[in-house]
Amino acid sequence: MTRRVACMLAVVAIAAMADVPKTATIIPAPQEMRVTGGEYWAMKPPKMEKVAGIPPEGYELSIRPDGMTIRYSDDAGAYYAKMTLFHMGRSDAQKKCKVYPCLEIKDWPKFKWRGVHFDDARHFFGKEVVKRTLEQMSWFKLNVFHWHLTDDQSWTLEIPGYPELVKYGDEWITRKGQKPRSFGEKVGPFYYTANDVKEIVAYAQARHIKVVPEIEFPGHFLCALCAYPEFACHPENIIKRGRQPISQGVLNEVMCAGNPDAIQFVEKVLDYVCELFPSDVIHIGGDESPRTRWANCPKCQALIKREGLKGVEELQPWVTRHFVEYLAKKGKRAIGWDEIFLDSANSYAAGTSFTSMLPKTTMGMCWRPRGAGASAANRGYEIVCCPTTHCYFDHWQCLEEDPYPYLLGKREPISLERAYQFDPLAGVDPAAYAKVVGGECCNWTSHTWNRYDMEWKLWPRGFALAEVLWTYPDPAKRDFAGFVERASEYRRRLIGSHVNCARIK
Ligand SMILES: [Zn+2]
Repeated sequence: MTRRVACMLAVVAIAAMADVPKTATIIPAPQEMRVTGGEYWAMKPPKMEKVAGIPPEGYELSIRPDGMTIRYSDDAGAYYAKMTLFHMGRSDAQKKCKVYPCLEIKDWPKFKWRGVHFDDARHFFGKEVVKRTLEQMSWFKLNVFHWHLTDDQSWTLEIPGYPELVKYGDEWITRKGQKPRSFGEKVGPFYYTANDVKEIVAYAQARHIKVVPEIEFPGHFLCALCAYPEFACHPENIIKRGRQPISQGVLNEVMCAGNPDAIQFVEKVLDYVCELFPSDVIHIGGDESPRTRWANCPKCQALIKREGLKGVEELQPWVTRHFVEYLAKKGKRAIGWDEIFLDSANSYAAGTSFTSMLPKTTMGMCWRPRGAGASAANRGYEIVCCPTTHCYFDHWQCLEEDPYPYLLGKREPISLERAYQFDPLAGVDPAAYAKVVGGECCNWTSHTWNRYDMEWKLWPRGFALAEVLWTYPDPAKRDFAGFVERASEYRRRLIGSHVNCARIK
């Protein structure tokens, strides 16, 4: 495609998005909106005023027959005001200008972390799909791109000094014989360079989106071990697989916590990640970490003895604390999946356990539905909620006719209505509400192969997520029927913008 044609297509896409026949149909709904009647023909740009007293990321928009004024708190607030305008403007060919309904809006986000998780490790999507996703997020005021870059299946970030890392990613050919992630096309390499990351981060920043990178350890670490088996408890178990199917047995593999070289390897990776990504928060994984190998490893047992730990159950807390403190020295906060808050009795109750020694700057990403997030928040840790019951968009969305596969088939479905019922504050003590910084949807890609099924699974459920996190309509009085009406309008717009938004039944 020539550059000129690409530019024309981009203009067409934006025009389709902005061609709105109705007045004031907005997702996420503004906190306060009063339609005053009449229209404004926009012959000049809005008057911009930065003023004190408006909440962070907030804005006030006043559209009258004689002009438009935007008052805003910060650059993000100004950006979101313009995004609201973008949603409401209608192109008028005869008048050769945009036409807006007259209204008064006061708007600000309820939660500051409004995230989309993107798994590039199970299937690799590449720069252009990442950018498409960022662009779509920006339309709905979603502002954190949680980039899952490494896992058992592959390592998708080039790290200087460790060239082997990006060579052993497999193509996740499943037991059912599904097609590999590349569909047999030669579209590699399946990893990102520093320049790719810089380009993506700049693209995100222009849309007020923070890119939070995730490096997974001590579990979900197999690809690193294939590249460097010496970081495993038992290197002889690691088979350099190349691009081969993954088998169940290898999921016991884990970083050797007792090997100082393995610890130093992760430190060096994080040094580089901190340099490359401007985000103040770095995700250190921590979920589903197996302990079998640690139990039979002389190095891990020696560490347990030296540090006076109760046993293998305290090894992960030890690793977590080490890296939380390591990142803190570099001025970064660590966030991890909620297992990092499990105590030695495998409970979130805690209070006196080793886990309670985690610095209070540690953040939790809470995916397990029963109590994990609420417990951490009640104990004073900031959390981001992404429970499997409402936010796992790799679960079936209850469309009878659906061309794409889902993680659990039709089990544990998350319909659009269920996604709209998401309440990040559920179970949290009112005194700890401020510790809930937001939520995100998880888009694991073991059954998602390309941008078509990625978009199908993300939208329209992403509309629901955006409205819950921005507007936070009262959970007891949520108007799902009204939401569906707006969502249907938005689906039409997305389809017009060549986004593969799923049907709304
Ligand atoms: Zn070990």
